[in-house]
Amino acid sequence: MSIQTQNPATGEVIKTFEAHSDADVDAAIAASVAAFHEIRDWSFEKRAKAMHKTAEILEDEAESLGAIMTLEMGKTHQAAIAEVKKCALVCRYYADEAEGHLANEYVKTEASEAYRAYLPLGPVLAVMPWNYPLWQVFRFAAPALMAGNTGLLKHASNVPQCALAIEDIIKRAGFPEGAFRSLLIRGSKVERILRDDRVRAATLTGSEPAGASVASICGSEIKPTVLELGGSDAFIIMPSADLDAAVKVGVEARNQNNGQSCIAAKRFFIHADIYDEVKARFKQAVEALIVGDPMSRETDIGPLVNQDGLDEIVKQVDNAVKDGAQRVTGGHAISGQGYYFKPGILEDIPKSSKAYHEEIFGPVMLLFKVESLKEAVDITNESPFGLGSAIWTQDKAEQDYAIRYIEAGATFVNSKTSSDPRLPFGGIKRSGFGRELAAEGIRAFCNLKTVSIA
Ligand code: NDP
Repeated sequence: MSIQTQNPATGEVIKTFEAHSDADVDAAIAASVAAFHEIRDWSFEKRAKAMHKTAEILEDEAESLGAIMTLEMGKTHQAAIAEVKKCALVCRYYADEAEGHLANEYVKTEASEAYRAYLPLGPVLAVMPWNYPLWQVFRFAAPALMAGNTGLLKHASNVPQCALAIEDIIKRAGFPEGAFRSLLIRGSKVERILRDDRVRAATLTGSEPAGASVASICGSEIKPTVLELGGSDAFIIMPSADLDAAVKVGVEARNQNNGQSCIAAKRFFIHADIYDEVKARFKQAVEALIVGDPMSRETDIGPLVNQDGLDEIVKQVDNAVKDGAQRVTGGHAISGQGYYFKPGILEDIPKSSKAYHEEIFGPVMLLFKVESLKEAVDITNESPFGLGSAIWTQDKAEQDYAIRYIEAGATFVNSKTSSDPRLPFGGIKRSGFGRELAAEGIRAFCNLKTVSIA
């Protein structure tokens, strides 16, 4: 895949970038090492000053940065601006909290002094996807830099302008030259970097094959990794739920980011007593969504990322229908220029159909009628993924059951799964391992050193 900006709203290739050579990459790694030797000796106060400045630049330039994201991957400009502001939030969170998260933790032993110390590791490679081109990167970069590490970014090949903008912002904020470098390279060039002794760890957000490849190379090099992979999150609605809120939030949870979110609600389990009513309300709400120009304020859903993304989801829906699923509404490509897709709803998806098990990375809701919470949780857990989950119920016992038995990295009650700098984020099973955000996110790439002074 070439490294280029292609506008998904028109299909037009706007700009093609020359890939960095091996020599360019080696120079970037050398600069990353040099910057590490500098910022590991910076005080938290000095790092925080540059991180607050990063947040300020993001906020000041939210509109133009948002427009780059919309141009390269098709999310609505309004959603893109909100994403930039969320990046500023994570920068400010770590600017303020890093020192506390990484403070020595004293333990009483026979020694005169014993404690845990959190020390930086060095250059970390981040392999990132296109769907949240700024957020996914800043939620890695902010804790990494505040811990005294440096970052090397291999961004998705379709968002090179986002990648270069991020490098530029971090440099302008006052971090040393080399503290955060974007490498314009293809996935096939990642192995060489992972096997470089100067690179100490890796984090990847993306698909299972990419995650498995990076983790196995890092395994053979004995390097730590964090993987944030796909999901097929459950959204369970029980009879006591506030249905107005559940329907509104459910439609948002599935269709946010043009349906291309790892933590989108993808499978809706609705109790039989309220199934027909909820289905009718979902149908009405999905049919009211406005699909169109992502730069327009009126638009709810812009184009899918590219032709492959559109073809894949059309194939998934058509195959599910061939297998016996019922189409409640939509779920088809929209003719004309750009990669537009009419958001849809499927029900009665047979267990034998691929759609029952696969992640659908686009705006299609899968509805399941269930007789009990146990049945909803059992089907939820048949998925190979375990990222987020949501349950809507006023019943405390049902809430406790879902929290205890859903196999996922998060359970949200009466809301949708979302990420928050203050809370750890990550999955289990084939959704990955390790956690980003909160204290866990900044400690992930630290040497937890045991110190004991006799
Ligand atoms: P990909 O895995 O194709 O791409 C992600 C990144 O990995 C890109 O930078 C890509 O580069 C790179 N890459 C691809 N193959 C390899 C490889 N073999 N070795 C090294 N790097 C590689 O995922 P998508 O871009 O298609 O993103 C969608 C997927 O990501 C979905 O499954 C989604 O659920 C998941 N995701 C998970 C999130 C989470 O937080 N858990 C968040 C967002 C998405 P290139 O572009 O050059 O191919």
